[in-house]
Amino acid sequence: MEASKAGEFLQFANVKKTYDQKTLVVKNFNLDVKQGEFVTLLGPSGSGKTTVLMMLAGFENVTSGTITMDGRPITKTAPYKRNIGMVFQNYALFPHMTVAENLAYPLTVRKMPKVQIRQRVDEYLKLIELSHFGNRHPGQLSGGQRQRVALARALIFEPTLVLMDEPLGALDKKLREQMQFEITRLHKQLGFTVIYVTHDQVEALTMSSRIAVFNEGVVQQYAAPDDLYERPANAFVANFIGENNLISAQAPILERDVVRSSLPGGTSITAQNGNCQAGDAESIISVRPEKLVIQAGGPVLDNQVEARFITRHYVGDFIRYYFELPSGGKVAVKTLNDTRAPDLRDGQTTTLGWRTRDCFAFRKEPLPVQGELQ
Ligand code: ADP
Ligand code: MG
Repeated sequence: MEASKAGEFLQFANVKKTYDQKTLVVKNFNLDVKQGEFVTLLGPSGSGKTTVLMMLAGFENVTSGTITMDGRPITKTAPYKRNIGMVFQNYALFPHMTVAENLAYPLTVRKMPKVQIRQRVDEYLKLIELSHFGNRHPGQLSGGQRQRVALARALIFEPTLVLMDEPLGALDKKLREQMQFEITRLHKQLGFTVIYVTHDQVEALTMSSRIAVFNEGVVQQYAAPDDLYERPANAFVANFIGENNLISAQAPILERDVVRSSLPGGTSITAQNGNCQAGDAESIISVRPEKLVIQAGGPVLDNQVEARFITRHYVGDFIRYYFELPSGGKVAVKTLNDTRAPDLRDGQTTTLGWRTRDCFAFRKEPLPVQGELQ
């Protein structure tokens, strides 16, 4: 067992999970969370996010490894003793109880005196701006209101740690944005630590202090939102967070500060090194659509490729142009809908340019992950 690092509130060390004793759905999970952080697990469906939360809450056993909270291993602690608040996508409110009774429930089971319960319930009804709804039943509330009640019920007993598993998944876009705002406001105001699960990258980027990008049972990168976007660790993260053009290239040569690769046809591209290694036969050049410039006699940028214009999608505030490279690869370019938006004829050939500092070269194959059943 590893000693816990000073200052870390929550730690996963080499946590593995199998349900069937054959395949690991969580291969080797490591994560450090500081008190008061808002950490998001972001990953595609089936990547093991819910499993991680269930192990943390104590509803699933850990196959091997350790979870430490406040310096103490909790892997063997009963769920109710972990004092963790939880919010799920399907509100899970008691339908036969009123809103006030739902909020009182976690306090009643913790044997708080009645007078105090009443005060606390009023306080939390006010906090979620539902002061006049205490006597309604969940069935008489809108989806957004129900989710606010579920949130208040998870927070009312003042847990130090709150787990949220896709809590906004069932809400429409506008309500979801309101709730994102609401959750981050309560987090700032009350100071609890959050582990949040979502597969929505925009939600993760806007809400989190740090994001763990999760795929195939391992953390691919754990970093602040702007770091993830600006310095993705591998091709999976580059592709999963925001939009990215991934262009196949050959024979990456590692120079002192950059990687030089060639596109089929011979054009040489310089990029920052993502995770290429000496001797790799292929690389993937990754450059975001907003970093590409459609050249029309503008400044000469580090990288220049010939490209054939295919079509444009008008989005309103910006325009997305699609091009084909001589190698057959497609790239998208995003340009603000202002005087810079060029006029192009279908099939017209032009030059696309971008800076070395705005692109990365990654390995084609991910590095192998060690994670055998033990
Ligand atoms: P996510 O929340 O990222 O969508 P899950 O943690 O729910 O992923 O699932 C990860 C994998 O584990 C999936 O392949 C899923 O089918 C499997 N799994 C999840 N829960 C169970 C369970 N209780 N029993 C067996 N397999 C499960
Ligand atoms: Mg899930």
